[in-house]
Amino acid sequence: MTQPVLEIRNLSVEYETRRGIIKAANDVSIDLYPGERFGLVGESGSGKSTTSLSVMRMIKEPGRIVSGEIVLNGETDILTLSPEEMRNVRLSRIAMIPQGAMNSLNPVVKIKDQLILTMATHGRIGKNKVTRKEINELLDSVGLQPHVADLFPHELSGGMKQRACIAIAISMRPDVIIADEPTSALDVVVQRRIMQTLKRLQEQLNAGVILVGHDMGLMAQFVDRLGVMYGGNLVEVGTVEEIFGNPQHPYTQLLISSIPSLERKGEFQTIPGQPISLLDPPSGCQFHPRCPQAMSHCSTVVPKRVAPKAGRTVSCLLYETEGMTDNAATS
Ligand code: ATP
Ligand code: SF4
Repeated sequence: MTQPVLEIRNLSVEYETRRGIIKAANDVSIDLYPGERFGLVGESGSGKSTTSLSVMRMIKEPGRIVSGEIVLNGETDILTLSPEEMRNVRLSRIAMIPQGAMNSLNPVVKIKDQLILTMATHGRIGKNKVTRKEINELLDSVGLQPHVADLFPHELSGGMKQRACIAIAISMRPDVIIADEPTSALDVVVQRRIMQTLKRLQEQLNAGVILVGHDMGLMAQFVDRLGVMYGGNLVEVGTVEEIFGNPQHPYTQLLISSIPSLERKGEFQTIPGQPISLLDPPSGCQFHPRCPQAMSHCSTVVPKRVAPKAGRTVSCLLYETEGMTDNAATS
């Protein structure tokens, strides 16, 4: 079987706040294969960004990766790398298009110089070695004209800025691309075009992608598999067909049924009940206060991960039968 390009194994992340400890990612496991597009969805605060930022080792104080492994190409647990080694991994092997990426461009530096700086810093080559031809090719690959190289970010539209960010992200030909709501600030038509560009480039590089977002329609169009997060837990993983056609976890079922129509490709709506407070999460299954299928023991027993088949997992007591749980299962 193909070696995953990225294995997130039993990742747990906490934020130590003045009001208490927030367990923002709890025993999260994801396998990402070369060329695969994996979507991470869930309500605001469910731990999607925490999980994706962990892969970049960009969790900042008061956050802390408490346990787990993040293995790249079956060989390197990036959590064991020194800060210097990790700097080299970022961008050259794992690149991120962050939330509000277009605001991450330096406003006083021309696009070409931002590209050159990135390539020189991460590729360990002299600035003078990055040719104009390379810059033009990179810009062309994201659908930007060569003259954009000489512009400052404020001279670009939102969509163009986002394309420039994608050019920076792929400039070192990474194995893994993390895209956190990469198009959320853009109108729908521009969003779709940019996602198509990202998909084409990712396929050319055979890079694995983790796409974080709320837009289930976009996910359905873009990703191969989906992971659903609730309260820091990855409660279900499956192919797009499985998640949309046969959702197993009651939370996923509500998410899917809350989409007005797949044709409308909308964001999911809020589902009934209070979102949980991670400072004081419910006992047992965290979803039990909102779950229409809750059973008496759901408030006391923590569900284990059940893996009905390779690449498919669900954490819900409805599916726990003897011998089916697989605590060590990765998705
Ligand atoms: P969104 O869709 O709104 O981006 P998310 O699913 O990506 O949300 P995270 O941003 O990972 O969720 O947040 C998970 C939990 O961790 C939330 O309860 C959030 O309040 C908490 N959290 C995130 N960053 C911090 C921080 N720097 N300090 C304290 N708590 C944090
Ligand atoms: Fe609902 Fe119980 Fe399953 Fe939790 S474990 S999702 S409360 S049925």
